Amino acid sequence: MTFKELSIVEPILKALNKKGYKNPTLIQEKAIPLALLGKDILGIAQTGTGKTAAFTIPIIQQLIKKNSNSNKKTIKALILTPTRELALQINECITEYCQYTNIKHSVIFGGIKQKQQTDQLDAGIDILVATPGRLLDLMSQKLVNLNSIQHFVLDEADRMLDMGFIHDIKQILPELPKQRQTLFFSATMPNDIVTLSHTMLLQPNIIEV
Ligand code: AMP
Repeated sequence: MTFKELSIVEPILKALNKKGYKNPTLIQEKAIPLALLGKDILGIAQTGTGKTAAFTIPIIQQLIKKNSNSNKKTIKALILTPTRELALQINECITEYCQYTNIKHSVIFGGIKQKQQTDQLDAGIDILVATPGRLLDLMSQKLVNLNSIQHFVLDEADRMLDMGFIHDIKQILPELPKQRQTLFFSATMPNDIVTLSHTMLLQPNIIEV
């Protein structure tokens, strides 16, 4: 199987090619076709499986297809991840996969001054990568608006819960449009994660690698 056979569009293929990625990993092969159809996904996958590309590529591709008639000022995809390191890594992947597109993206996390982050938001972005605390903080200051989110990713859900972010997530969720695509990833599926997944997914396709 190749990325081309997964119907990945040319600008993304070109970026993957530049990175030397020709063949999708197992999670990518299973998740990308379903995600491109707009389906919800419950992915049970560890770091190292290629899960970041499994959720970023289909979101970028869907946004490219819709971008011609879009309002540039609204955030269309939100990726929530538990740590600053993961947020930076995901943002770096998006930078690479988007380099031949006009998709705009940005990352926010706590521990540094918010000014630089909010300037980027003001300029208008399509994809936002965020840690929960800083996102809630900026939401409460009305500096970020989630009304136009069409694609939502919860990355490393089990780690989110271990780190005590459940309360933050429960505050963020009601601010997202009900009609959206949700991609939910966790390395493990204890009962509380199963319960959480039920509150945010609609007839998900379950993918385990
Ligand atoms: P992740 O599980 O998303 O943290 O990815 C693990 C590593 O695999 C990262 O260094 C990626 O850059 C790399 N990777 C992701 N997809 C592919 C692929 N299709 N072919 C080769 N390497 C990949």
